[in-house]
Amino acid sequence: MPELPEVEIAARNLREWTAGRSIVRVEASPTAKYVFRPSSPKAFARAVAGARFGEIRRIGKNLLVSLERDGAPLGVLAHLGMTGKWLRREAGDPPTRFSRARFALDDGAVLHFDDLRLFGRLRVVPGARFDEVPEVAALGPDPLDRGIDPAALGDALRRSKLPVKVRLMDQALLPGVGNIYASEACFRARVDPRRKGPSLAPREVKALAGAIVTAMKDGIARQEGPEITYVEEGGANPFLVYGREGEKCPRCRRAKIQRVVQAQRSTFFCPRCQR
Ligand SMILES: [Zn+2]
Repeated sequence: MPELPEVEIAARNLREWTAGRSIVRVEASPTAKYVFRPSSPKAFARAVAGARFGEIRRIGKNLLVSLERDGAPLGVLAHLGMTGKWLRREAGDPPTRFSRARFALDDGAVLHFDDLRLFGRLRVVPGARFDEVPEVAALGPDPLDRGIDPAALGDALRRSKLPVKVRLMDQALLPGVGNIYASEACFRARVDPRRKGPSLAPREVKALAGAIVTAMKDGIARQEGPEITYVEEGGANPFLVYGREGEKCPRCRRAKIQRVVQAQRSTFFCPRCQR
């Protein structure tokens, strides 16, 4: 499932593919209505056809795509949901397998928003006023672009009795951290994911802040080529503990990785080296 690193890769790809380009034609699949909520596929296609690409920003798992159409700014908020991805094909190539929207560009390429499970989202933002979108306004500072201040993280963890792993997934605190990277960060910081936030010592909070950023940077660095296959789709598992229940811990090599369910999501950890 896409988290900050996968969305960062998507942002980098899109910047490269769309620099100076215009959208010649848009097709939005009528059967993929949910992707275009609360609008419709037809209205979405009508709104962005003919637009020219501008800046593409990423905050957490959100892509903020600025366009210009008839001299006026226009925005598209894009979210990959659970299985979304951006793929580039040449004109005349068959559509990607789960193509939900196709953007034919003036250089002959076609960008596909591909999404098996339809939880992704493409939403027009009038005037590119992204700050007026409640989901965007609610996001905390992006941990990759802005770094994580251990003091601020410590304050936030002290204010809630939630297990630390669940708390790390709060997008108002750490946008872009999801189920996978929350487990990975706790493992790297040697913190038991079941511990309550207020129980963490300052040095543990500091380790956690560093571990989140390092895990994400590693995730970005190991991506090869522009096309992602998510673990859930049968891609190789590149993670230290995520999805590795019953396997030997890669650090202590003594205990086996355990899985517990927290807030309806699977958490993976080493019971021996995470305290
Ligand atoms: Zn271990």
